[in-house]
Amino acid sequence: MKKTGVKYKGKPKNIIRIIDVTNRDGVQTSRIGLAKLEKTMLNIYLNEMGIYQSEFGFPVTKHETNYINANVELARIGVIKPMILSGWVRAITGDVEAATKMTDVEHMNLSISTSEQMLYGKFKGKLNKNDIIKMMTSAVELAKKRKIKTIGVNAEDASRSDMNFLIKFAHEAKAHGAARIRYCDTLGYDDPFSIYKRIRLLVSEVNMPIELHCHNDLGMAVAVSVAGAKAAIDGGVDAYINTTVNGMGERAGNADLVSTILAIKYSSGFKGKYALDERIKLSCAWKIAKFASYAMGIPIPVNQVAVGTNAFAHESGIHADGALKDRRNYELYDYEELGRGEPEIIETGRMITAGEYSGIKGFRNVYDRLEIKFTDEKIATKILDLVRYANVHTQKPLTHGELRFIAKYPEIAKKIFTMSP
Ligand SMILES: [Zn+2]
Repeated sequence: MKKTGVKYKGKPKNIIRIIDVTNRDGVQTSRIGLAKLEKTMLNIYLNEMGIYQSEFGFPVTKHETNYINANVELARIGVIKPMILSGWVRAITGDVEAATKMTDVEHMNLSISTSEQMLYGKFKGKLNKNDIIKMMTSAVELAKKRKIKTIGVNAEDASRSDMNFLIKFAHEAKAHGAARIRYCDTLGYDDPFSIYKRIRLLVSEVNMPIELHCHNDLGMAVAVSVAGAKAAIDGGVDAYINTTVNGMGERAGNADLVSTILAIKYSSGFKGKYALDERIKLSCAWKIAKFASYAMGIPIPVNQVAVGTNAFAHESGIHADGALKDRRNYELYDYEELGRGEPEIIETGRMITAGEYSGIKGFRNVYDRLEIKFTDEKIATKILDLVRYANVHTQKPLTHGELRFIAKYPEIAKKIFTMSP
């Protein structure tokens, strides 16, 4: 084995990038939902934050069609750029065919289970390992034929899969044109040591970039993700960590976006030794965490890494004294770096909000405060109408970001709100 964690000089050979899956794993979760406008805003914020890719939805789910196409349009006109928008489908030709027929999606992740548990427990023994490989390779071939630009292949339940089969599966994926293999720790079964060994072996056998998709059922999602990434980099390939905003995802959730970035930037074994995608702007952390919390209607826990109320609070005598003398005594990183520190203005007097039954006067007041003027009455009425529709979807006062987006891209907003079952 090569030496691990060697300090890199100059340009690092391999880097860790982030693929956020909030708009897929996050929203498929019980009790968690986002309106299509909120998903769109999240894509815009993830792009601002320098995230490499957003897994932005399900191209074969009918109610996502307009949202998916509208967001691809935002990518094409440069609003969401350079972030890649990738759709999630099952690794079957039917899904690839439907996705490319129903939407303009340009990048895809194709997913299929690889563990014995799933073969017998989910597929009830109707599929054997060869069938799994055949289905996956046919789906990859078709995606290639349909000119899908990035094809990722997801091994669901990889952490409980037989290693020899996983290697064979990855080999076949690569041979048929997949750009990356996604190692899914679907049940959060791996620990940092087990994933390190498994990814190191996988990389030495197949030599292709690895995505780490880890769940938090044992409270280790971030630790397991970064350990997996370390193994990929030590093995000489790029690593892509799957995250979600505020860690929201199936059951106990996924690796939290902000925690993962901080772990790579500041933990003792990673700091200065492993390179994180240079595009990442941690200064967007506060804004995106707050927005996701508001949109999902789920408060951020007080002790949440970096963005919780207590993340920079000190009270006990020794800690407060120490933090005041030198912040490094009790803080590993600065709150300013996360976009924290600005006082938030909360209206305590009269407040006009924009909603589904708003009238033109209140609506104008809302936009005046954003310093957005409409050239004529006709346009104002049109935007008001769209704002009403937006609120039908979100069912809470629209954020300034959402109001600005609707005023700036009314035609795309209209597409996002349009749903016809
Ligand atoms: Zn997942």
